[in-house]
Amino acid sequence: MIVQANPGAGYRTLKPEIDAAVARTLDSGWYILGQEVKAFEAEFAAWLGAGKAVGCGNGTDAIVLALRGLGIGPGCSVATVSHTAVATVAAVEMAGATPVLIDIDPDHYTMNPADLAATLAAPPAGSPPIKAVLPVHLYGQAADLDAIGALCRDNDLALIEDCAQAHGATWKGQQVGTFGDAATFSFYPTKNLGALGDGGAVALPTEDMAGRVAALRQYGWRTHYISDDVGMNSRLDEMQAAILRVKLAHLDAANARRQAIAAVYDDALCQTAIRPPARRAHAGHVFHLYVIRVPERDAVQARLRAAGIGSGIHYPQPVHIQPAYRNRVALGSAACRETEIAASQVLSLPLYPELTDGEVAQVAEALRRL
Ligand SMILES: *Cc1c(COP(=O)(O)O)cnc(C)c1O
Repeated sequence: MIVQANPGAGYRTLKPEIDAAVARTLDSGWYILGQEVKAFEAEFAAWLGAGKAVGCGNGTDAIVLALRGLGIGPGCSVATVSHTAVATVAAVEMAGATPVLIDIDPDHYTMNPADLAATLAAPPAGSPPIKAVLPVHLYGQAADLDAIGALCRDNDLALIEDCAQAHGATWKGQQVGTFGDAATFSFYPTKNLGALGDGGAVALPTEDMAGRVAALRQYGWRTHYISDDVGMNSRLDEMQAAILRVKLAHLDAANARRQAIAAVYDDALCQTAIRPPARRAHAGHVFHLYVIRVPERDAVQARLRAAGIGSGIHYPQPVHIQPAYRNRVALGSAACRETEIAASQVLSLPLYPELTDGEVAQVAEALRRL
């Protein structure tokens, strides 16, 4: 069976380098917030083209830290999307803010700027004022940063990019994660840049903002044992930072491999009634996921399974329909109608850099027969 994602294959490819990095860390005697984290933060910020990066425990906490660092919390609404990992919306509430869920553009699955504009003009009754916008660069492709950025500027709103699925994605040649007031990354093992455990980071334009977020991740300390702010504990550990340093050096090549596999699937789908994923003009897509839309999803999934090909659904239920959020969370003007249709049709095909050419050909052959 060809699986949809395979973090173990990522480890095996780089095993000697990763094992050496782990051994070095174990021997160092220093396991939390030390030289490896410091070096990874510097290397990641340089690779991204951001001012600073601050490592933290995971991608959910990265969003909480970014919001808190920008002063977004109780009494503020944050406009984000329902078609995302639930973490995005959970983090807004963890920060004490109120989510307002904007619909997606049905071709690219990212925040629809027209619905954002309509919602800003007529915000949901009973929600606090919208103070920040949190678009998600879903599946590895940038949201429309021109339109969303302009709305943020015109309405004096903070812009926080959720880049958990988009390490290396670009917008007009510039890396996502460098457009807003803060950007958040997850290093969950299956992400484009994946640790071998949990990890996350916040990218920030200034030293000052980075200092604030770095304090918040460890009890609000700027000096040991003295809390200037009420902080949390969300640290990136040394072992994961050492592993991420190895993986970061191979990230551009891994993303190029993802794009090459996507091109093979595109070719195969051109011979069928299924459309390949739409690329947005100006966006460099890094294919965290290769997602097709199939109204007869169960049947397609079964046919792929019979051909030995696994697939996934990202995500089967929009956040606003899940039990914890249903009838409680505020929706934007479009009531997430396109979000609900997409959730019933999206299907993710196997895509990770270590797929062999033979496996890619096998998937392509099964796609041609759909
Ligand atoms: C994975 C993910 C997160 C959360 O990251 P964790 O490291 O699992 O906390 C947030 N947003 C999106 C879009 C994600 O895909």
